[in-house]
Amino acid sequence: MRFRKYLIRSWLSWSLVFIGVTYMTGTHLDSFEWPLFWFIYTLGALFVMNPLKRRHLHFTFHEMFVFMTFFLYGLAPALLMGQLLLLTFQARAFNRRVGRRRFLHFYPLNTVIESLLVLLPGLAYLRMGGDIGVPVHLMQQGGALLAFLGVLFVVLGLSFSLSYFMVGERIPLPIMWRLLRFDWLVVSVELLFTMLAIESYHLFGYVGVTITFFVLSLLKMTLSKATETEETNSKVDQIERLKEQLYRVDSEQLLIEKFWNGLREIVEVERGWLQVNRGGERVFYDLAGRVIGPVQDAYTIERYHDESEPCFVYDSLHEWHPELQLHQSELHHSALVIQPVWSAETSVSCMISTTANGAYETPIAIEIHRLLKTFSWSIERIDERKRLQHESLTDPLTSLHNQRALRRWTKERLGDPSSYPLSLFLIDLDHFKTINDTYGHAFGDEVLIEASNLFQRNVRASDLVTRYGGEEFVFVFPRMDEAAAILVGEKIRSGLKKHDFGTETKPVHVTASIGIETIHEFEELDTILRNADRAMYVGAKFKGRDRVAHYRDLSSETTR
Ligand code: GH3
Ligand code: MG
Ligand code: MG
Repeated sequence: MRFRKYLIRSWLSWSLVFIGVTYMTGTHLDSFEWPLFWFIYTLGALFVMNPLKRRHLHFTFHEMFVFMTFFLYGLAPALLMGQLLLLTFQARAFNRRVGRRRFLHFYPLNTVIESLLVLLPGLAYLRMGGDIGVPVHLMQQGGALLAFLGVLFVVLGLSFSLSYFMVGERIPLPIMWRLLRFDWLVVSVELLFTMLAIESYHLFGYVGVTITFFVLSLLKMTLSKATETEETNSKVDQIERLKEQLYRVDSEQLLIEKFWNGLREIVEVERGWLQVNRGGERVFYDLAGRVIGPVQDAYTIERYHDESEPCFVYDSLHEWHPELQLHQSELHHSALVIQPVWSAETSVSCMISTTANGAYETPIAIEIHRLLKTFSWSIERIDERKRLQHESLTDPLTSLHNQRALRRWTKERLGDPSSYPLSLFLIDLDHFKTINDTYGHAFGDEVLIEASNLFQRNVRASDLVTRYGGEEFVFVFPRMDEAAAILVGEKIRSGLKKHDFGTETKPVHVTASIGIETIHEFEELDTILRNADRAMYVGAKFKGRDRVAHYRDLSSETTR
C-alpha cells in the first residue's frame, strides 16, 4: 500500500538525520553553553505550543531560536535545538489519537526539513566566511548573511518536493506558491528578529532576548488573526450566498449541479459524492450530478460515525478511517465528510476529497453541514411539489391518469402531426350498477382496479389510459388508424370478457361497451370525446352491449 511506502521512506530519511544530529552533538558537546541553551529552548517551546495554522501547515516561528543558537554556538547546538523544539511541538498533540498518527506520518518529514533549514544555510554562511560566537555582531556579516537567507529560501522551496517524496503530499501550484511566499516572509522576519535578539543579548543579556521574544510573539499574534479570519469569513459568505441560491431551485438535477458548482468555487474538490436518502432509498450523485452506483465510503462513514460530530475533517491520509483509505483509487490526503443531515423524510450526506493536505477547515465544514441542511429542505420541497403534481394528475383508486391528465396529454399530442391518425376509445363497463348491487361497492372498486391493470397491459408505452370517471375509461392511441383501432378494441373487449374477477368458487365476469373515434387531422378533444361517446351508446350499448363500435360506421349508417 502506498501509505506504507511513504511511511518507510519517511522513517528511513529520519534515521539518517537522527544519526547525523546525534553524531554532531556528541562531537561538539564543548560548544554548548547550557544555561543559555535551555533559556533559548524555553522561550522557543512557548512559541511552538501556539502555532499559526495555514491549511495543515503550522507556522511556529521557532526558527528564530534555532538561528540564534546557530549564530551563537554553531551548527551542532542549532541542529539539536531544532530537533528538541520540533519534538516539543509534536508532543503538544500527543494525547490525541490523531495526534499520534500525525506524529507517525509527519514527524520524520518535519525532522528532515527542520535539519535542512539550519544545516544548508548554516554551511553556506560558514563557507562565505561568516563568524560564529557570542561576540559576533551580525550587522557585520552582510555577505554571509545574504548567503544564509538565499539558501534558506531555496530549502523552503525544496521542502515541498521533499514532502511529496516522503508523504505523497501534492499541493496545487497556486496554493503552494501562496504558502511558499508566506513561508519566505516568516523566515525573513525570523532572521531579522534573530539579529535583533543577538544584538540585544550583547546589550542587555537575557533581558534583551526576552524582550525580542515578546515583540515577535505580538507580531505573530497579529499575523495569525489577520490571515485566519479573513480567509474563513469570505468563504463563509460564499457558502451563505450558495445557500440562498439552493433554496430557490425547483429541480433536483439543477439543485445538485448548483451545489457542486458552488462548492467547487469555495473549496478544493477533486472527488466527491452526494447521497440523497429517502426513507432508506439511497441515490448517489457524482461531481457532475450523474447518478452513480452505491458508494462504499458512505456505508463506512455511517457505520463509524460518531453522533456528536456532524462532520469529519481529515487533513492527511493517515487520519482517514482505514476502510475509507482502502476504497481510495488515487492518493487523496484531505477529506471532508458530512454526516447525514436529516429533515422530515430525507437525509443528505456528502464526502469530498482532494490530493493536497489540509484543504478543509472545521469552521468551513460546519458551514457546509448547514448548507446540506438547506439542500435537504430544497429536496423535500421539490419532492412535495412533484408529489402534488402527480396526485393532481392521478386517479386515486386505480392509479391511472385522470381527466386532467387526459386533457394535458392530448393537447400536446394533437399538436404533433406525427400523432395522426389518432384513435380515441371510450370504454364503459356494462351493468356496473348490478355488480355493485350484487357484490357490494367495495368489490366494485376491486373490479375497477383489476380492470385498470388489465387495460394497461394491453397498450403500448406511447398510449394513454385514463379513468374518465366512474366506470368509464378513455384510451388515446397515437398513430392508429380505424382498422387497427377496431382490432385493438376487440382485443380489449374479449380480454375483459374472459377475465374472471371473482374467486375460484364464484366466477364474476364483466363486459364493456367500447366507442371509437379516429381522426386524421386536428380536432378539438371535446368533439372527439363526443363522437366516441355516441359510438359507445348508439353503436354498442343500444345494440346489446359487450361490443366495439366505431363512429365512422355509425355516421355512415345514419347518413344512409
Ligand atoms: P350500463 O353502463 O351498462 O348502461 O350500466 P351501468 O350500471 O354501468 O350504468 P351507469 O353508468 O348508470 O352506472 C354506473 C355505475 O357505476 C353507478 C355507480 O354505482 C358505479 N360506479 C361509478 N363509480 C364507481 C366507483 O368508483 N366504485 C364503484 N364500486 N362503483 C362505481
Ligand atoms: Mg357509465
Ligand atoms: Mg356502465
